[in-house]
Amino acid sequence: MVTTKTFRKTAKEVVIPFNKEKAISFRQVMKDCVDPEQVSALRYPALKFVQYKNHRLLLRCTFRSGNYVVGFKAVGDELRATCSCKETRPGVCVHICKAIEVITSWHGDKYFLQLLPKRQFDLAFKYPQGFDKVESERGIQIVKRKELMALFPFDSPILPMPLDEILAMKITSERKKTEQVGKRDAISFLLMLPHSGKQPPFIYLASGKPTKGNDKIMSWTKFLPSIDDSSIKSINGFQHDLIVKSSRLFELSEKFAKDNKNQSWVKWNNDMAAAYDEWKQVFPLLSNEMLVYTYTYYRFRELKMRPAKNRAEKVLVSMDKPVVNFKITNTNDSCQVSLEININGKLIKNYDVYCPFLLVHEGTVYMFDNYRDAAIVKWMASTGWITAYKEHFKELREYILKPLSERYTIV
Ligand SMILES: [Zn+2]
Repeated sequence: MVTTKTFRKTAKEVVIPFNKEKAISFRQVMKDCVDPEQVSALRYPALKFVQYKNHRLLLRCTFRSGNYVVGFKAVGDELRATCSCKETRPGVCVHICKAIEVITSWHGDKYFLQLLPKRQFDLAFKYPQGFDKVESERGIQIVKRKELMALFPFDSPILPMPLDEILAMKITSERKKTEQVGKRDAISFLLMLPHSGKQPPFIYLASGKPTKGNDKIMSWTKFLPSIDDSSIKSINGFQHDLIVKSSRLFELSEKFAKDNKNQSWVKWNNDMAAAYDEWKQVFPLLSNEMLVYTYTYYRFRELKMRPAKNRAEKVLVSMDKPVVNFKITNTNDSCQVSLEININGKLIKNYDVYCPFLLVHEGTVYMFDNYRDAAIVKWMASTGWITAYKEHFKELREYILKPLSERYTIV
Protein backbone atom coordinates (compact mmCIF):
# COMPACT_ATOMS: atom_id res chain seq x y z
CA MET A 1 0.00 0.00 0.00
CA VAL A 2 1.27 3.43 -0.87
CA THR A 3 1.09 6.18 1.72
CA THR A 4 0.44 9.82 1.03
CA LYS A 5 4.00 10.55 2.01
CA THR A 6 5.65 8.41 -0.62
CA PHE A 7 3.05 9.55 -3.09
CA ARG A 8 4.16 13.17 -2.75
CA LYS A 9 7.72 12.26 -3.58
CA THR A 10 6.96 10.27 -6.67
CA ALA A 11 3.89 11.99 -8.04
CA LYS A 12 4.12 13.53 -11.49
CA GLU A 13 1.39 15.88 -12.62
CA VAL A 14 -0.69 15.35 -15.72
CA VAL A 15 -2.61 18.28 -17.11
CA ILE A 16 -6.23 17.91 -18.18
CA PRO A 17 -7.74 21.09 -19.63
CA PHE A 18 -11.31 22.13 -18.72
CA ASN A 19 -13.49 22.15 -21.81
CA LYS A 20 -15.58 25.07 -23.11
CA GLU A 21 -18.32 24.31 -20.59
CA LYS A 22 -15.77 24.49 -17.77
CA ALA A 23 -16.20 20.77 -17.32
CA ILE A 24 -14.01 17.69 -17.36
CA SER A 25 -15.37 15.11 -19.75
CA PHE A 26 -14.43 11.51 -19.09
CA ARG A 27 -14.53 10.78 -22.78
CA GLN A 28 -11.99 13.54 -23.43
CA VAL A 29 -9.71 12.24 -20.68
CA MET A 30 -9.80 8.77 -22.22
CA LYS A 31 -8.24 10.14 -25.40
CA ASP A 32 -5.06 10.75 -23.40
CA CYS A 33 -5.29 7.55 -21.41
CA VAL A 34 -2.22 5.28 -21.35
CA ASP A 35 -4.39 2.16 -21.68
CA PRO A 36 -8.10 2.71 -22.52
CA GLU A 37 -8.80 -1.02 -22.75
CA GLN A 38 -7.60 -1.56 -19.23
CA VAL A 39 -9.84 1.27 -17.99
CA SER A 40 -12.88 -0.39 -19.57
CA ALA A 41 -11.95 -3.69 -17.99
CA LEU A 42 -11.42 -2.28 -14.50
CA ARG A 43 -14.19 -2.24 -11.92
CA TYR A 44 -15.14 1.04 -10.28
CA PRO A 45 -12.76 1.77 -7.42
CA ALA A 46 -13.97 2.98 -4.04
CA LEU A 47 -12.84 6.57 -3.52
CA LYS A 48 -12.07 7.65 0.00
CA PHE A 49 -11.39 11.22 0.95
CA VAL A 50 -7.87 11.66 2.37
CA GLN A 51 -7.39 15.42 2.62
CA TYR A 52 -7.82 18.78 1.03
CA LYS A 53 -4.79 20.98 1.46
CA ASN A 54 -3.22 23.77 -0.58
CA HIS A 55 -6.14 23.50 -3.00
CA ARG A 56 -5.31 19.86 -3.68
CA LEU A 57 -7.86 17.12 -3.14
CA LEU A 58 -6.45 13.71 -2.31
CA LEU A 59 -8.52 10.56 -2.68
CA ARG A 60 -7.54 7.00 -1.92
CA CYS A 61 -8.73 4.80 -4.76
CA THR A 62 -9.18 1.17 -3.85
CA PHE A 63 -8.93 -1.22 -6.79
CA ARG A 64 -8.89 -4.98 -6.58
CA SER A 65 -5.24 -4.77 -7.59
CA GLY A 66 -4.32 -2.32 -4.85
CA ASN A 67 -4.66 1.18 -3.45
CA TYR A 68 -3.50 4.36 -5.12
CA VAL A 69 -3.71 7.94 -3.95
CA VAL A 70 -4.95 10.26 -6.64
CA GLY A 71 -4.66 14.03 -6.30
CA PHE A 72 -6.58 16.79 -8.08
CA LYS A 73 -5.85 20.47 -8.17
CA ALA A 74 -7.53 23.03 -10.42
CA VAL A 75 -5.47 25.95 -11.66
CA GLY A 76 -6.87 28.44 -14.16
CA ASP A 77 -8.20 26.53 -17.15
CA GLU A 78 -6.79 23.16 -16.23
CA LEU A 79 -7.05 20.29 -13.82
CA ARG A 80 -3.76 18.87 -12.62
CA ALA A 81 -3.88 15.26 -11.55
CA THR A 82 -1.36 13.03 -9.83
CA CYS A 83 -1.26 9.36 -8.97
CA SER A 84 0.91 7.32 -6.63
CA CYS A 85 1.39 4.54 -9.19
CA LYS A 86 4.63 3.92 -11.10
CA GLU A 87 3.21 4.62 -14.53
CA THR A 88 5.94 5.87 -16.87
CA ARG A 89 4.14 6.00 -20.20
CA PRO A 90 3.12 9.51 -21.31
CA GLY A 91 -0.56 10.27 -20.68
CA VAL A 92 -3.13 9.82 -17.96
CA CYS A 93 -2.77 6.66 -15.88
CA VAL A 94 -5.68 4.23 -15.58
CA HIS A 95 -6.30 5.13 -11.91
CA ILE A 96 -6.81 8.80 -12.62
CA CYS A 97 -9.08 7.90 -15.55
CA LYS A 98 -11.13 5.55 -13.41
CA ALA A 99 -11.38 8.08 -10.54
CA ILE A 100 -12.56 10.73 -13.00
CA GLU A 101 -15.11 8.30 -14.40
CA VAL A 102 -16.57 7.66 -10.94
CA ILE A 103 -16.59 11.32 -9.97
CA THR A 104 -18.07 12.72 -13.17
CA SER A 105 -20.73 10.04 -13.45
CA TRP A 106 -21.73 10.50 -9.82
CA HIS A 107 -21.17 14.19 -9.07
CA GLY A 108 -21.39 15.64 -12.58
CA ASP A 109 -18.77 16.85 -15.01
CA LYS A 110 -18.49 20.29 -13.33
CA TYR A 111 -17.28 18.73 -10.09
CA PHE A 112 -13.64 19.67 -10.59
CA LEU A 113 -14.50 23.31 -11.17
CA GLN A 114 -15.26 23.47 -7.45
CA LEU A 115 -11.56 22.92 -6.75
CA LEU A 116 -10.51 26.27 -8.16
CA PRO A 117 -9.35 28.82 -5.59
CA LYS A 118 -12.23 30.76 -3.93
CA ARG A 119 -14.70 28.12 -4.97
CA GLN A 120 -16.67 25.54 -3.00
CA PHE A 121 -13.79 23.39 -1.64
CA ASP A 122 -11.74 26.39 -0.70
CA LEU A 123 -14.67 28.03 1.11
CA ALA A 124 -15.93 24.83 2.73
CA PHE A 125 -12.58 24.06 4.35
CA LYS A 126 -12.07 27.67 5.43
CA TYR A 127 -15.60 28.16 6.76
CA PRO A 128 -16.70 24.73 8.00
CA GLN A 129 -19.79 26.16 9.71
CA GLY A 130 -21.28 27.01 6.31
CA PHE A 131 -20.95 23.62 4.64
CA ASP A 132 -21.39 19.91 5.10
CA LYS A 133 -18.80 17.56 3.68
CA VAL A 134 -20.49 14.39 2.65
CA GLU A 135 -18.07 11.51 2.32
CA SER A 136 -18.91 8.25 0.59
CA GLU A 137 -17.35 5.56 -1.56
CA ARG A 138 -17.55 8.10 -4.34
CA GLY A 139 -15.25 10.56 -2.63
CA ILE A 140 -16.44 13.79 -1.08
CA GLN A 141 -19.17 16.21 -1.87
CA ILE A 142 -19.52 19.77 -0.61
CA VAL A 143 -23.06 20.66 0.39
CA LYS A 144 -23.89 24.24 1.24
CA ARG A 145 -25.89 24.58 4.44
CA LYS A 146 -29.39 25.97 4.24
CA GLU A 147 -28.55 29.03 6.37
CA LEU A 148 -26.43 30.48 3.58
CA MET A 149 -29.47 30.58 1.28
CA ALA A 150 -28.14 31.90 -2.05
CA LEU A 151 -24.34 31.69 -1.94
CA PHE A 152 -22.83 34.42 -4.05
CA PRO A 153 -21.52 34.18 -6.75
CA PHE A 154 -22.54 30.56 -7.32
CA ASP A 155 -26.24 30.95 -7.00
CA SER A 156 -27.23 34.54 -7.38
CA PRO A 157 -31.04 34.57 -7.72
CA ILE A 158 -32.40 34.88 -11.24
CA LEU A 159 -36.15 34.76 -10.67
CA PRO A 160 -38.26 36.45 -11.79
CA MET A 161 -35.39 37.76 -13.93
CA PRO A 162 -31.75 38.74 -13.54
CA LEU A 163 -31.00 41.72 -11.30
CA ASP A 164 -29.72 43.99 -14.07
CA GLU A 165 -32.97 43.58 -15.97
CA ILE A 166 -35.01 44.45 -12.91
CA LEU A 167 -32.89 47.51 -12.16
CA ALA A 168 -33.15 48.66 -15.77
CA MET A 169 -36.96 48.72 -15.61
CA LYS A 170 -38.50 52.06 -16.36
CA ILE A 171 -40.92 53.08 -13.68
CA THR A 172 -43.57 55.72 -13.49
CA SER A 173 -45.38 56.56 -10.35
CA GLU A 174 -48.90 57.82 -10.67
CA ARG A 175 -51.59 58.03 -8.10
CA LYS A 176 -55.25 58.36 -8.85
CA LYS A 177 -57.28 60.43 -6.47
CA THR A 178 -60.51 58.88 -5.29
CA GLU A 179 -63.13 59.88 -2.77
CA GLN A 180 -64.79 58.08 0.06
CA VAL A 181 -67.70 55.95 -1.02
CA GLY A 182 -70.94 56.19 0.90
CA LYS A 183 -73.63 53.64 0.35
CA ARG A 184 -72.65 49.98 0.02
CA ASP A 185 -74.33 46.71 -0.69
CA ALA A 186 -73.43 43.11 -0.32
CA ILE A 187 -71.36 42.83 -3.42
CA SER A 188 -67.82 42.20 -2.37
CA PHE A 189 -64.53 42.32 -4.18
CA LEU A 190 -62.34 39.28 -4.07
CA LEU A 191 -58.62 39.68 -4.61
CA MET A 192 -57.98 36.44 -6.42
CA LEU A 193 -54.52 35.18 -5.50
CA PRO A 194 -53.62 32.38 -7.90
CA HIS A 195 -52.36 29.41 -5.95
CA SER A 196 -50.02 28.09 -8.62
CA GLY A 197 -48.41 31.41 -9.41
CA LYS A 198 -49.18 30.87 -13.09
CA GLN A 199 -50.79 34.24 -13.57
CA PRO A 200 -51.02 37.70 -12.07
CA PRO A 201 -53.64 38.27 -9.36
CA PHE A 202 -56.99 39.67 -10.41
CA ILE A 203 -60.26 40.88 -8.93
CA TYR A 204 -63.58 39.08 -9.12
CA LEU A 205 -66.99 39.94 -7.71
CA ALA A 206 -69.00 37.77 -5.40
CA SER A 207 -72.19 38.29 -3.52
CA GLY A 208 -73.04 37.24 -0.04
CA LYS A 209 -75.24 37.91 2.93
CA PRO A 210 -73.74 40.71 4.98
CA THR A 211 -73.89 41.29 8.69
CA LYS A 212 -76.24 43.95 10.00
CA GLY A 213 -73.47 46.46 10.09
CA ASN A 214 -72.72 45.60 6.47
CA ASP A 215 -69.06 45.19 7.33
CA LYS A 216 -68.66 41.47 6.78
CA ILE A 217 -70.05 38.66 4.66
CA MET A 218 -71.77 36.04 6.79
CA SER A 219 -72.23 33.52 4.01
CA TRP A 220 -71.31 33.55 0.35
CA THR A 221 -73.92 33.15 -2.36
CA LYS A 222 -72.09 33.12 -5.68
CA PHE A 223 -69.37 34.53 -7.87
CA LEU A 224 -70.57 37.29 -10.17
CA PRO A 225 -69.08 37.27 -13.67
CA SER A 226 -71.17 40.38 -14.35
CA ILE A 227 -73.88 42.14 -12.44
CA ASP A 228 -77.51 42.58 -13.40
CA ASP A 229 -79.47 45.80 -13.89
CA SER A 230 -81.04 45.85 -10.45
CA SER A 231 -77.65 45.52 -8.80
CA ILE A 232 -76.19 48.23 -10.98
CA LYS A 233 -78.70 50.68 -9.52
CA SER A 234 -77.42 50.02 -6.06
CA ILE A 235 -73.78 50.74 -6.78
CA ASN A 236 -72.00 54.05 -7.08
CA GLY A 237 -69.84 55.41 -9.89
CA PHE A 238 -66.57 54.40 -8.30
CA GLN A 239 -67.76 50.88 -7.84
CA HIS A 240 -68.92 50.79 -11.42
CA ASP A 241 -65.49 51.90 -12.54
CA LEU A 242 -63.91 49.28 -10.30
CA ILE A 243 -66.11 46.55 -11.75
CA VAL A 244 -65.25 47.47 -15.35
CA LYS A 245 -61.54 47.56 -14.57
CA SER A 246 -61.67 44.34 -12.59
CA SER A 247 -63.24 42.52 -15.46
CA ARG A 248 -60.47 43.76 -17.78
CA LEU A 249 -57.89 42.60 -15.27
CA PHE A 250 -59.53 39.20 -15.04
CA GLU A 251 -59.40 38.74 -18.83
CA LEU A 252 -55.79 39.81 -18.89
CA SER A 253 -54.85 37.40 -16.13
CA GLU A 254 -56.68 34.45 -17.67
CA LYS A 255 -55.05 35.10 -21.04
CA PHE A 256 -51.71 35.24 -19.27
CA ALA A 257 -52.37 31.86 -17.63
CA LYS A 258 -53.30 30.35 -20.98
CA ASP A 259 -50.16 31.67 -22.68
CA ASN A 260 -48.06 30.56 -19.72
CA LYS A 261 -49.67 27.14 -19.29
CA ASN A 262 -46.52 25.13 -18.78
CA GLN A 263 -44.93 27.32 -16.18
CA SER A 264 -45.69 27.36 -12.52
CA TRP A 265 -44.23 30.83 -12.14
CA VAL A 266 -45.06 34.05 -13.91
CA LYS A 267 -42.90 35.56 -16.59
CA TRP A 268 -42.25 39.23 -15.99
CA ASN A 269 -42.93 40.15 -19.59
CA ASN A 270 -44.97 42.90 -21.28
CA ASP A 271 -48.27 41.24 -20.36
CA MET A 272 -47.18 41.18 -16.75
CA ALA A 273 -46.32 44.87 -16.92
CA ALA A 274 -49.78 45.53 -18.44
CA ALA A 275 -51.40 43.64 -15.56
CA TYR A 276 -49.40 45.75 -13.11
CA ASP A 277 -50.65 48.94 -14.77
CA GLU A 278 -54.24 47.72 -14.48
CA TRP A 279 -53.71 46.97 -10.80
CA LYS A 280 -52.33 50.44 -10.33
CA GLN A 281 -55.65 51.78 -11.61
CA VAL A 282 -57.93 49.57 -9.56
CA PHE A 283 -56.05 49.52 -6.29
CA PRO A 284 -57.04 53.03 -5.13
CA LEU A 285 -60.67 52.23 -5.98
CA LEU A 286 -60.45 49.09 -3.87
CA SER A 287 -59.14 51.04 -0.91
CA ASN A 288 -62.56 52.71 -0.62
CA GLU A 289 -64.34 49.42 -0.27
CA MET A 290 -65.38 47.80 2.96
CA LEU A 291 -66.03 44.30 1.65
CA VAL A 292 -62.70 43.22 0.24
CA TYR A 293 -61.44 39.67 0.66
CA THR A 294 -58.39 37.78 -0.49
CA TYR A 295 -59.32 34.50 -2.10
CA THR A 296 -57.09 31.58 -3.06
CA TYR A 297 -57.78 30.85 -6.69
CA TYR A 298 -57.14 27.48 -8.30
CA ARG A 299 -58.93 27.28 -11.61
CA PHE A 300 -61.52 28.89 -13.81
CA ARG A 301 -64.31 26.37 -13.39
CA GLU A 302 -64.61 26.98 -9.67
CA LEU A 303 -65.97 30.43 -10.50
CA LYS A 304 -69.21 28.66 -11.44
CA MET A 305 -69.55 27.36 -7.90
CA ARG A 306 -70.14 29.04 -4.58
CA PRO A 307 -67.17 30.82 -3.02
CA ALA A 308 -65.62 28.69 -0.31
CA LYS A 309 -65.69 30.37 3.07
CA ASN A 310 -62.33 29.01 4.23
CA ARG A 311 -60.52 30.47 1.25
CA ALA A 312 -61.80 34.00 1.71
CA GLU A 313 -60.14 36.28 4.18
CA LYS A 314 -61.31 39.78 4.91
CA VAL A 315 -58.62 42.37 4.37
CA LEU A 316 -58.11 46.09 4.50
CA VAL A 317 -56.66 47.73 1.43
CA SER A 318 -54.11 50.35 2.30
CA MET A 319 -52.66 53.03 0.07
CA ASP A 320 -49.54 53.18 2.23
CA LYS A 321 -46.52 52.20 0.19
CA PRO A 322 -44.15 49.43 1.17
CA VAL A 323 -40.65 50.91 0.92
CA VAL A 324 -38.00 48.47 -0.29
CA ASN A 325 -34.47 48.68 1.13
CA PHE A 326 -31.58 46.29 1.26
CA LYS A 327 -29.65 45.41 4.35
CA ILE A 328 -26.08 44.24 4.72
CA THR A 329 -25.06 42.21 7.71
CA ASN A 330 -21.33 41.71 8.07
CA THR A 331 -19.44 39.17 10.09
CA ASN A 332 -15.66 38.73 10.07
CA ASP A 333 -15.70 36.36 7.14
CA SER A 334 -18.97 36.82 5.38
CA CYS A 335 -21.61 39.24 4.36
CA GLN A 336 -25.33 38.75 4.03
CA VAL A 337 -27.56 40.78 1.76
CA SER A 338 -31.23 40.76 2.62
CA LEU A 339 -34.37 42.69 1.91
CA GLU A 340 -36.10 45.07 4.29
CA ILE A 341 -39.56 46.46 3.87
CA ASN A 342 -40.80 49.51 5.74
CA ILE A 343 -44.33 50.79 5.86
CA ASN A 344 -44.84 54.28 7.28
CA GLY A 345 -41.25 54.22 8.51
CA LYS A 346 -41.79 50.98 10.39
CA LEU A 347 -39.88 47.83 9.58
CA ILE A 348 -42.28 44.95 8.98
CA LYS A 349 -41.66 41.25 9.42
CA ASN A 350 -43.58 38.12 8.44
CA TYR A 351 -45.16 39.64 5.40
CA ASP A 352 -46.41 37.63 2.45
CA VAL A 353 -45.28 38.54 -1.06
CA TYR A 354 -46.23 35.25 -2.67
CA CYS A 355 -48.55 37.01 -5.09
CA PRO A 356 -46.92 39.45 -7.52
CA PHE A 357 -47.49 43.21 -6.97
CA LEU A 358 -49.09 42.77 -3.54
CA LEU A 359 -47.89 42.51 0.00
CA VAL A 360 -50.11 41.09 2.72
CA HIS A 361 -49.26 41.93 6.30
CA GLU A 362 -51.46 41.50 9.36
CA GLY A 363 -54.74 41.50 7.46
CA THR A 364 -53.87 44.47 5.26
CA VAL A 365 -53.02 44.41 1.58
CA TYR A 366 -50.52 46.89 0.17
CA MET A 367 -49.38 47.37 -3.39
CA PHE A 368 -45.79 48.02 -4.42
CA ASP A 369 -45.37 51.54 -5.70
CA ASN A 370 -43.71 50.52 -8.93
CA TYR A 371 -43.21 47.51 -11.12
CA ARG A 372 -39.51 47.29 -10.36
CA ASP A 373 -40.11 47.11 -6.61
CA ALA A 374 -42.66 44.37 -7.21
CA ALA A 375 -40.17 42.40 -9.30
CA ILE A 376 -37.16 42.86 -7.03
CA VAL A 377 -39.12 41.70 -4.02
CA LYS A 378 -39.90 38.46 -5.87
CA TRP A 379 -36.24 38.23 -6.88
CA MET A 380 -35.18 38.28 -3.25
CA ALA A 381 -38.15 36.24 -2.00
CA SER A 382 -37.16 33.45 -4.36
CA THR A 383 -33.93 33.01 -2.43
CA GLY A 384 -34.31 34.49 1.05
CA TRP A 385 -30.94 36.20 1.25
CA ILE A 386 -27.54 36.16 -0.37
CA THR A 387 -24.41 35.09 1.48
CA ALA A 388 -20.92 35.91 0.26
CA TYR A 389 -17.60 35.02 1.86
CA LYS A 390 -14.85 37.62 1.91
CA GLU A 391 -13.14 35.96 -1.05
CA HIS A 392 -16.02 37.29 -3.14
CA PHE A 393 -16.63 40.71 -1.55
CA LYS A 394 -15.12 42.51 -4.51
CA GLU A 395 -17.46 40.82 -7.01
CA LEU A 396 -20.40 41.19 -4.65
CA ARG A 397 -19.80 44.94 -4.54
CA GLU A 398 -19.41 45.14 -8.29
CA TYR A 399 -22.27 42.91 -9.45
CA ILE A 400 -24.85 43.22 -6.70
CA LEU A 401 -24.28 46.05 -4.26
CA LYS A 402 -23.20 48.80 -6.62
CA PRO A 403 -26.07 48.32 -9.11
CA LEU A 404 -28.52 47.91 -6.22
CA SER A 405 -27.32 51.07 -4.51
CA GLU A 406 -28.03 53.09 -7.64
CA ARG A 407 -31.72 52.35 -7.22
CA TYR A 408 -32.20 51.38 -3.59
CA THR A 409 -31.11 52.41 -0.15
CA ILE A 410 -28.70 49.96 1.41
CA VAL A 411 -28.73 50.08 5.17
ZN1 LIG B 1 -2.04 5.61 -11.46
